[in-house]
Amino acid sequence: MSTDSAVRVRFAPSPTGKLHIGGARTAIYNWAFARSQGGSFILRIDDTDPTRSTEENTQIILRALRWLGLDWDEGPDIEGDYGPYRQTDCADLYREAAQKLVKEGKAYYCFCSAEKLARDREAAKARKDSFQGYPRTCRHIDPAEAQARVDAGEPHTIRLAVPEDRGDVVIQDAVHGEVVFNARELDDFIIFRSDGTPTYNFATVVDDARMKISHVIRGDDHLSNTPRQVIVYEALGAETPTFAHISMILGSDGKKLSKRHGATSVEEYQKEGYLPDAFLNYLALLGWSLDGETTIIPREVLAKSFSLDHVSKNPAIMDAEKLLWMNSSYMGEMTDAEFVDRILMPELTKAGLEHDSEPMHEREWYELLASIAKPRCKLSGDVVGIAHFLYEGDKLTYDQKSVDKNLAKEWAHDVLRATTDVLSALGDDEWHEEQIDRAMEALPEKLDLAKRKVFQAIRVAVCGNQVSPPLGSSMELLGKEQTLKRIAYAQESFTQTA
Ligand code: GLU
Repeated sequence: MSTDSAVRVRFAPSPTGKLHIGGARTAIYNWAFARSQGGSFILRIDDTDPTRSTEENTQIILRALRWLGLDWDEGPDIEGDYGPYRQTDCADLYREAAQKLVKEGKAYYCFCSAEKLARDREAAKARKDSFQGYPRTCRHIDPAEAQARVDAGEPHTIRLAVPEDRGDVVIQDAVHGEVVFNARELDDFIIFRSDGTPTYNFATVVDDARMKISHVIRGDDHLSNTPRQVIVYEALGAETPTFAHISMILGSDGKKLSKRHGATSVEEYQKEGYLPDAFLNYLALLGWSLDGETTIIPREVLAKSFSLDHVSKNPAIMDAEKLLWMNSSYMGEMTDAEFVDRILMPELTKAGLEHDSEPMHEREWYELLASIAKPRCKLSGDVVGIAHFLYEGDKLTYDQKSVDKNLAKEWAHDVLRATTDVLSALGDDEWHEEQIDRAMEALPEKLDLAKRKVFQAIRVAVCGNQVSPPLGSSMELLGKEQTLKRIAYAQESFTQTA
């Protein structure tokens, strides 16, 4: 989809690992900004580091972005007018751009060895020079001589000749406001390494310029690279985009988010049972707000209302509890039918309790189960624990503690006997939660026992533990025969008679 808007943003992950929370949030902000502006969202794979980039990581990142529901308009898998969209396919473009700069006198070949550079640095340090960067030794070599040395195969890098009169580089960052960098400290930095590969600052700008990127939205760990990139834009004669550097995400202890704080990759969150909509909503709020108070922001609203001026420059704190809450809210908002299709069936199938091809029950059965499981789930996989007792048939596992506390008593025997009586009296067509609950309603009074005592005993007998969903619906789902069988079994096996 190409649009008329001049807004073009890109997410440019380096496939040196999985997609992390910080990267995912950067992707979300780029996507939401493009959508809110009617612009284009471009995916570019920054795989110039051959030792650390892998195709496997690229695929993992693409899968994670798709799972998050972020659609891109141009990218490695989608034809566009500004390809290639992988940096490894652009080697010639970078070389040509660097050579053009050399020809124009905006860049030059440098033949200084690593040893010489180290010696120069030490000497500048010893002299306590105010400038201890590259002393621009090769900037003064005659271009024809330099070319001859290159042609003769002498090892070299290419450095950008930072204009002496450049003055401060001032950036109007959409998040940080005005940021000023002293151009003198920039050094004549390397744009092409001696192994013939471009540096990040160079490749990124060549690509961003040729892709007509209008806004560079990325983590503020790249803020310090920005003045060099601005100098490259200027050397290339390209228009500098608007920069928006978003804050880091920190763990709850205020330290940089790492493995120590728990899951860090999108893939892990997916496996743990988070919903993409909830995860997207949560990450969007890590550093951006709609109005300072709304927390549930569906993706359509995000795509319409996102704006850079509501992005905070303060670090965001990852709050696992809030994410979990967000996830359960999204589940709670689903209709029973949606919950069955998106959560219940896939999870029960994954756990081997159901087989996709042949559901074991009627549709209504699953929807009733969904209605009681939904409010009790925080993560998708929680449904398995909730529904498990329904799939155990005659082999229900009883929780020993629950049995000791609620069944291994004399009164429990009476409770189960009386329960059997009232439930057996129900006809098959009366086997519904309301009728079941009504039939058991009078039991505490009849037995002169506390309500809690009575129903906990029944619950453990039927479900195996004290924490199952409501009794009437549990029994309806289990069916009359199985319910009575379990009560009889529990009565015989666990209760005591006087
Ligand atoms: N490949 C770079 C990274 O993953 C992109 C930085 C940028 O957006 O310029 O950090």
